[in-house]
Amino acid sequence: MCHEKVSTIGWKAVLMVEEPLLCFQCSRELVKINGAICQGCGRPGEFEPLCKDCLRWSMDPCWKENEMINRSIYQYNEGIKTIFNQFKFRGDFELGKVFSKEIREFFIKEFTSVSMISFIPLSEERLYERGFNQAEILAKHIPRKIEPTLLKKNETKQSKKTRQERLTGDNPFQLRLNVNITAQHILLIDDIYTTGTTIRHAAKLLLENGASKVSSLTLIRS
Ligand SMILES: [Zn+2]
Ligand SMILES: [Zn+2]
Repeated sequence: MCHEKVSTIGWKAVLMVEEPLLCFQCSRELVKINGAICQGCGRPGEFEPLCKDCLRWSMDPCWKENEMINRSIYQYNEGIKTIFNQFKFRGDFELGKVFSKEIREFFIKEFTSVSMISFIPLSEERLYERGFNQAEILAKHIPRKIEPTLLKKNETKQSKKTRQERLTGDNPFQLRLNVNITAQHILLIDDIYTTGTTIRHAAKLLLENGASKVSSLTLIRS
């Protein structure tokens, strides 16, 4: 991240347990979510048991019937923002490895009951521009088969949308052909959970097409 030489002197290096990818300073910038969280979206803090946003979501008929759980690994702060922007927007693909072990361990701890793993797709335009899909890269650190289930429609500018489209905020995703998601508990991987709108659009589509449950794992909870 900062190009500082990483010390490989120490008992871990001697035992060859693991090679540190970040220096002490950089790794200290990453703060994991520990302790009390909202039981819906994984937001850190004391809630009873849902935060305001999740309570609002639960009014929607779809989420009255289907419980949706998100869990995130890191709190949003300047440190993760810097590392993550370098990875996502400046195309520093190798930096994705920094999160590998954490994602793997977090998955094993939180999501053993899922039956299918997928990720939030990018539109073709965006994928071409960026060269890779950061959510897919993160998903690949999970030691299971990853199924692409969704496509993202190319983005139309707000101004080009009809009034109706703007108001209803139509679903930006569509289901891929030839995927069978019937009765699957699908885990969706994405980089960041902010308002939850993206993940819930994707989850809704999967539920409407036969999935029994959808959960999500995101790297960051903003
Ligand atoms: Zn560093
Ligand atoms: Zn919540």
